[in-house]
Amino acid sequence: MNSEIVYLNGQFLPADQARISVFDRGFLFADSVYEVIPYYQGIGFRLQQHLDRLAYSLRAVRIQAEADWVGILDELVQRNGGGNLSVYLQISRGSAGYRTHTYDDSMQPTLFACTSPIRDIYEDGAEQVKGYNVIVTADLRWRRCDIKSTGLLPNILVLQQAREAGADEALLVRDGLLSEGTSSNLFLVRQGVIYTPKRSSEILGGTTRELILELAAEAGIPYQEVDLQPEELDHADEVWVSSSTRGVMPVLSIDGVPVADGLKGPLWQRMFALFTRFQHRLMTGEA
Ligand code: PLP
Repeated sequence: MNSEIVYLNGQFLPADQARISVFDRGFLFADSVYEVIPYYQGIGFRLQQHLDRLAYSLRAVRIQAEADWVGILDELVQRNGGGNLSVYLQISRGSAGYRTHTYDDSMQPTLFACTSPIRDIYEDGAEQVKGYNVIVTADLRWRRCDIKSTGLLPNILVLQQAREAGADEALLVRDGLLSEGTSSNLFLVRQGVIYTPKRSSEILGGTTRELILELAAEAGIPYQEVDLQPEELDHADEVWVSSSTRGVMPVLSIDGVPVADGLKGPLWQRMFALFTRFQHRLMTGEA
């Protein structure tokens, strides 16, 4: 039994009373897009950036769904007690009432959102942040990774492979280039410069990736958006991965080999401090 309140097609109701059709295209075909948005103390973190990306994904897959997302998500968070919650929002193309590959615009999209508790990662000091161990493996995903589609089977299988190897995340390689993690963007530091794979259809335009680059620019830390080859990981001073619910995470080892001295690097410490300050400004209404 789950008594959490979820949002489904205009209604707020307990999760165990929410019903969708077995013919929903999200269920049958992963014909759906999603977002994950952290709320800290009831305030959405980079909410507008997430909603902009949602609009981008919807446009890219040609699902038409308009709603007052800010109002819906804020209310959902309040109904679930406010505080620190991760909001999951999914929109599928809806259902034709039977299984068919083709679709038309008469279908009503299915709008769904739920929450789950999260830690406020910025309350912890840098010492509490656990470093990541990662593996490097082939990127088996489709070629529109810029769309936040719920078709996550390749991501799930590779993450499981990482977990079974005792690692926390997998870095993906396609056509000789690093793309990103299974649910995170990738950064590499060398001689004080931050490098990250450039935006393309091979990666998701992460909201945290964007924030890292904004904070770097504000602080005068040089960065470059480039093509990165896996061999460059061997010579990195630091490697980071980023995502909304985990922020910026230091990678301490890759395929069992320590990154530099295997400790959290100085530029990561600085970026973590910039994140923490940004978070504080957000909470006090200054950002
Ligand atoms: N890349 C992928 C494949 C992801 O699934 C995610 C987040 O889930 C990210 C990157 C990071 O995006 P964001 O920082 O917006 O959470």
